[in-house]
Amino acid sequence: MLIVPEDKCREIVGREDAFKAVEGVFAAMARGDAYNFPVIREAIGHADALYGFKSGFDRAGLVLGLKSGGYWPGNEKRGLTNHQSTVFLFNADTGQPKAMVGGNYLTAVRTAAASAVSIKHLSRPDSKVLGMVGAGHQSAFQMRAAVEQRGFEKVVGWNYHPEMLSRLEETARDIGIDYESVDLDQLGAQADVIITITSSFAAILKAAQIRPGTHLACMGTDTKGKQEVEAELVAAATAFTDEVAQSVSIGECQHAIAARLIGESAITPIGDVINGKHPGRTSDDEITLFDGTGVGLQDLAVADVAVQNAVTRGLAISVDM
Ligand code: NAD
Repeated sequence: MLIVPEDKCREIVGREDAFKAVEGVFAAMARGDAYNFPVIREAIGHADALYGFKSGFDRAGLVLGLKSGGYWPGNEKRGLTNHQSTVFLFNADTGQPKAMVGGNYLTAVRTAAASAVSIKHLSRPDSKVLGMVGAGHQSAFQMRAAVEQRGFEKVVGWNYHPEMLSRLEETARDIGIDYESVDLDQLGAQADVIITITSSFAAILKAAQIRPGTHLACMGTDTKGKQEVEAELVAAATAFTDEVAQSVSIGECQHAIAARLIGESAITPIGDVINGKHPGRTSDDEITLFDGTGVGLQDLAVADVAVQNAVTRGLAISVDM
């Protein structure tokens, strides 16, 4: 079995690798070649932790495995990341363990790749201003991946905790793109593409704040009860997602579904757009919304790339099982 430690993943899996892997697996899911197994997530009654598994099988790429991990709120005080995850891959022919891969960096880069895939396939090609709602750990990864998809000239940012906005400003400066902190009305009025990446449990963006033609990538809502945009905004948009089953239960669309503003059939897997089965955006005035719930197959896809790249560069550790 091979081990690819967390600290090696950053140097061997770049944004382009993650983008290709995530776009490919979304397409495979929509073709029926890859599927996710039911998610397990439990409060374990120790250390206030949430722990679980996301797993699946990509029959086309023969990638089988799971991501195990969760959220330990006390970790920061110990100098550790609160979100902890590890990916395990298995030989699809024999069931033998194939690799254990650090999953913390890979989670961030695969989540950013998902919204970037949506921007490539759904945003207006002439998009110039990127709006960022959220300034936590994921936000910098999101911004870096997004700006590579369109000729963005400016980033506008808002965060519930204003003291965290320096992360957006510093990331934009590092990229070399203009940045302005704004209120939500200004953000909606200026942005062509908006990424939401917060842990909010109440709608932040209202339908009235969004211009026709905007593309939204809603990436923060990955649990029952979380919410980043008004259900009316989801209903006003053409909705796409990584996986419909997760979108209606734990994703941003859960609230519009519960309020009966939309039905499940109104949500399209983005893989259908990638595969040319759905046209995606059909006019410059259409509001498109990608509900990025985060699926196990994304984790397996980027972990598989990490293993391949680690082997090529002689960075994988081999152990006998
Ligand atoms: P973080 O803890 O570093 O940052 C949290 C962010 O949420 C900050 O911007 C904070 O200001 C904001 N926030 C906190 N409470 C809020 C409130 N009441 N109202 C509005 N905003 C609030 O977290 P992170 O690692 O950046 O993750 C952000 C979110 O993305 C989390 O909800 C996480 O579960 C989710 N996530 C989703 C995926 C996916 O695949 N879709 C993957 C990873 C993380």
